[in-house]
Amino acid sequence: MSATRVMFGALALMAYSALIAAEPAPSQWQEIELSLSGPADVQAISDLGLIIDDVAAGHVTAYARPEHLEALHKLGIAYTVVVEAGAPKDFSGYHDYVALTAELEQYAAEFASITRLISLGQSVEGRELWALLITGNPGEEEDEPEFKYVATMHGDEPVGTENCLRLIDYLLRGHGTDNRATALVESTAIWFVPHMNPDGNSNGSRSNAHDVDLNRDFPAYPTDFTQNYFDGGAISLEGREPEVQHVMAWALANSFVLSANTHTGSLVVNYPYDDDGVPSGVPAPTPDEELFQYLSLQYAMFNPPMYNSPEFENGITNGAAWYTISGGMQDWNYRFVSCFEVTLELSEIKKPSSTQLPQFWEENRESMLAYLEAVHIGARGLVTDRLTGAPLWAEVRVEGNAQPVFTDPDVGDYHRLLLPGEYRLQVRAPGYIPFEVEGVAVTEGPATRVDVGLSTGDLDGDGAVNAVDIQSVLESILSADPSGADVDGGGVTVTDLQTVVNLALRRPGPE
Ligand code: ZN
Repeated sequence: MSATRVMFGALALMAYSALIAAEPAPSQWQEIELSLSGPADVQAISDLGLIIDDVAAGHVTAYARPEHLEALHKLGIAYTVVVEAGAPKDFSGYHDYVALTAELEQYAAEFASITRLISLGQSVEGRELWALLITGNPGEEEDEPEFKYVATMHGDEPVGTENCLRLIDYLLRGHGTDNRATALVESTAIWFVPHMNPDGNSNGSRSNAHDVDLNRDFPAYPTDFTQNYFDGGAISLEGREPEVQHVMAWALANSFVLSANTHTGSLVVNYPYDDDGVPSGVPAPTPDEELFQYLSLQYAMFNPPMYNSPEFENGITNGAAWYTISGGMQDWNYRFVSCFEVTLELSEIKKPSSTQLPQFWEENRESMLAYLEAVHIGARGLVTDRLTGAPLWAEVRVEGNAQPVFTDPDVGDYHRLLLPGEYRLQVRAPGYIPFEVEGVAVTEGPATRVDVGLSTGDLDGDGAVNAVDIQSVLESILSADPSGADVDGGGVTVTDLQTVVNLALRRPGPE
């Protein structure tokens, strides 16, 4: 472990020294402000190719390239330049790439038994995308939910990086002494990516070193959202920015349940969808609208300036209801890998003075903890092969809700966030008989455990579904002995018999 870390460190330093020679081309994007005459303007501005960053009180803050300014001139739309392209930014008091790297390596060395520091890959200019895992047994896959905080995908919005570092410090120093920190670390795989866009942060730009906005570069509605990770084939990373590719590959290799990405420029929790085909300004609810409101409130309600927002009721908003963005990270996480993600806007001022950072931590500390703790609500359990006990790659659905979640195939654990209520779970895995569990009672507090053993119909494990298995189900029905023969979760009934007969005859099973 430590050898790997040292190697990463050495590589990072080499990459960094190689960078110093090549001064990056200044970003072409400049920050401008426009007045709105109506909601349709937002769509019109977006259609021109400008990147909208905030819509508030009749004004739009946007990023524009020279060609966009020309288009605005032609249309007679007035704007004011807020920040010139390539204007130097003062990041004093914030962690730059070198300081962040050093700090993460120090934490990983000092708390080696509960951390793992990896690089997700390199940025355009060769900086590492550091990811720090904090958990009880970092070397083992366990039956526990995975969570992530991803900061500063916009390089000029660095408050979240600093809050992540403070939360990391609290969790690591609190482990073993503070009950809350200890419980979180022992029960959760907690990941941090404090700089998703280290080049942008180093160069003082929103975009990466290819001048691309990373929060517009993810697979987008509608063309990329015809399938999800469970139903779809292998996902292509081709054509996306390196930073986006690394984060996508990381999300696909893990089984994240809940996450948030941090920004500045406004003060609100923004939840999916950002884009579901509706016009900008119209809500685009997911099948989990109520749950997303609850999760967003877990963050907003503990941040007084956010919760008392004059602009957003209780400091939360549906993404598209505010303004539509295409290719955002949160929609992809939810829609494609079933990770519930929200976007946290932490400060009206993009880069507040570093003297205010302690105050930003105070205002976000409880919010970050409460949101993280919400990863433990709902229903959870293991999906295994009932004969061998092997963990399965399975899909878990709640009846009446189109959004599936997937097990982590390493352990077979699933974590379906749910609000209190009674649910019917539907579990399916390739090659297995679909299984349903009725009357799952979810209460406030820790998730209700529902483990499921799936059957192929081969009840005796002789390698085939045949007359012996049919006989076994029949005997179960006649003797009302449920052991093993309830293959679909509805109790031992004739539907179990029918299913096993169909499988023995190689008829299509129930789907
Ligand atoms: Zn942003």
